[in-house]
Amino acid sequence: MNTQVFGRVSIEGIHAIALNRTGGTSQSPFDSLNLASYVGDDPQCVAANLEVVKELVSARGICVMNAEHGNLVHVVSEPGIALPGDGLVTKQTQLALVSLAADCVPFGLIDPVNRVIAVGHAGWRGVLANVMQSLLDEFLASGAQLNHTQAVIGPAICAYCYDVPVERVEMFRQVRPEAISSPKNLDLISGVTSVLATQVTQIHELTGCTLENSKLFSFRRAAGEPTGRGGLVLAMSAS
Ligand SMILES: [Zn+2]
Repeated sequence: MNTQVFGRVSIEGIHAIALNRTGGTSQSPFDSLNLASYVGDDPQCVAANLEVVKELVSARGICVMNAEHGNLVHVVSEPGIALPGDGLVTKQTQLALVSLAADCVPFGLIDPVNRVIAVGHAGWRGVLANVMQSLLDEFLASGAQLNHTQAVIGPAICAYCYDVPVERVEMFRQVRPEAISSPKNLDLISGVTSVLATQVTQIHELTGCTLENSKLFSFRRAAGEPTGRGGLVLAMSAS
C-alpha cells in the first residue's frame, strides 16, 4: 500500500482513502502530505500534494473543503477550494472531494447505484450542529437513496484522548448524548455514527486515533504550533 494511504474502501469504482501525513512534499511542521492551504505551508507544496492525492483516487480534478465548523453543505462540480462549509456533494466523475481534518472526524457517503458521493467534516461544533444530517439531506436531494448508501469514517481523535471542559460535555447531554463517553470526554466518532448508522446500509470505519498515531496529523498533538491537515478523499471513476 502507498505510504500516503492510511486506509481504503473501494465500492464499484468509487474510491475512499483516509490519508496518512507521509509521502508528500511539505517541510516540517507540515511534513509531509499537508493538503490545507490555510495553515502557513508553501502553496507549491500543497499543490503538489493535492496532485499526489488526485492520482491515488484516479481523479482528474480535486475539490477541497473549506471547513468552518458548521453544517453548510455545497453541491460541487468544479475543482478548487470550495466555498466555506463542512460538506461537499458531487455527481461528477473523476472529481475528488477532500475533507480536511486533524482530530475532527472526516466522513464520506457513497451511493454506487445512483452515482453520488459526498464528504463531511465534524468536530464538536459540527456534531452539535448535526452536519451529518445536513450532508445526508443534500446527498439525497442530489439523487442518492438511503437503501444504496454506505458511509466511510476516517481517523479522528479518540474518546480517551479527547478530554474537554465539563461545560462542553454538558452541551451534548440533550442534543447528542451518544457522543459523551465520560463527564469530561467526548467521542466524536460515536457522535457522527449515531446519526448515520440508523440511515445508511453500512459504515466502513477507517479509524485510528489521530493524536496517538504519529503517521497522522493532529491539531492537539501540535499543541498550538502550526501543523498540516490530512483527512479523507473520495472520487468516482468514469462510468
Ligand atoms: Zn487517542
